[in-house]
Amino acid sequence: MTQSSSGDNPVFRLPERLLLGPGPSPVPARVLKAMATPPIGYLDPAWFEVMAHAQGQLRRIYNTNNARTLPISGTGTMGMQACVAALVEEGDNVVVGVNGYFGNRLVDMAERLGANVTQVENVWGRAIDAGALEAAIKKVNPKVVMLVHAETSTGVRQPMDDVTRIVRDAGVMLLTDCVTSLGGVAVQLDDWGVDAAYSCTQKCLGAPPGLAPVSFSRRAVRAVAERKSKIHSFNVDIDLIDGYWTNHAYHHTPPNNMLYALVEAMTIIEEEGLDNRIARHQQNHLALVAGLEAMGLSMNVPAGERLPSLNAVGIPEGADDGAVRGELLGRFGIEMGAGLGAGKGKVWRIGLMGHGSQRRNVLTILAALGTVLNHQGIACDASGAMTAAESAYG
Ligand code: PLP
Repeated sequence: MTQSSSGDNPVFRLPERLLLGPGPSPVPARVLKAMATPPIGYLDPAWFEVMAHAQGQLRRIYNTNNARTLPISGTGTMGMQACVAALVEEGDNVVVGVNGYFGNRLVDMAERLGANVTQVENVWGRAIDAGALEAAIKKVNPKVVMLVHAETSTGVRQPMDDVTRIVRDAGVMLLTDCVTSLGGVAVQLDDWGVDAAYSCTQKCLGAPPGLAPVSFSRRAVRAVAERKSKIHSFNVDIDLIDGYWTNHAYHHTPPNNMLYALVEAMTIIEEEGLDNRIARHQQNHLALVAGLEAMGLSMNVPAGERLPSLNAVGIPEGADDGAVRGELLGRFGIEMGAGLGAGKGKVWRIGLMGHGSQRRNVLTILAALGTVLNHQGIACDASGAMTAAESAYG
């Protein structure tokens, strides 16, 4: 038997990339190193300590006291599925805010579970209107309202104060997608009154893809206990999964190394300070926007609804979407995201997430994008863009 380190295996000789797309985001070396810690038995008391530590960290980042706060094995979609499957039963009335790709995915999941879904729509690039949400809640008296806090497909950050007050006043449950906000944009589960939330590891938390942190309020835990039917899937049955996290009753073998990564990533967040990290995401976002606008490009979302971690910018007239992204990747090693769903061919998505949200990355992508656009015959002032970005830092 031969042992080779990954560096010796030609399969892993991948090009180095600067990940400034919709995720995954760049992973700090410390996190990768933590992943090399050897796996340990799932019933080993030493492992239980790692689990408990991770849960405490997640509660602090989610700003919640929810006991049932844990990382589901799988990516954000698995967290989404676990939350939707827990709160939705056949015949339930559900209201979903739909202003992008992931709102549509929530509708799809709820419908597959037999829910009667009412969609509160807005155009892609705008937040869900609180008045429209209130009207839908009054009309159908849902069991649960579902909202995407950070719509990665459009770059919209849903302002939460009004919508969460409306949902709270109506006494219905609230499920929230925090995939592109947790760890980079303020998430206040308890203050907002969120009953079920999910996220992922590969965006603002700064770890590789593979876990989906979820959190359930006491009311949501009670609602699951009072279900008429079993949760449809053994895999995402939150009672069974939580049974392992609280009573160490086997459900599936936990992916140790992913949890090591998440713990290390959250330790980095604690060292930086969550508030500082959120401010850093905001500052880099503002500088990027200043640079893009100085370049003559326009943002897809009005200023009050922009998501700092995902910047959707309109593709300028005459630019070849694929050619621009291809040249950025080929010449500069920079990944910039394409549009998704209805945004395909219309916007580019620049992610400034976690470790990727850095001043030098803002300047790098502005310089590279300006150069590529000029090369492809689109006039723009790359150095003016960098000056505008730098002055936005003050
Ligand atoms: N929700 C949102 C808002 C997302 O951006 C994503 C992925 O980008 C998902 C859910 C699904 O997450 P994953 O791709 O990790 O399964």
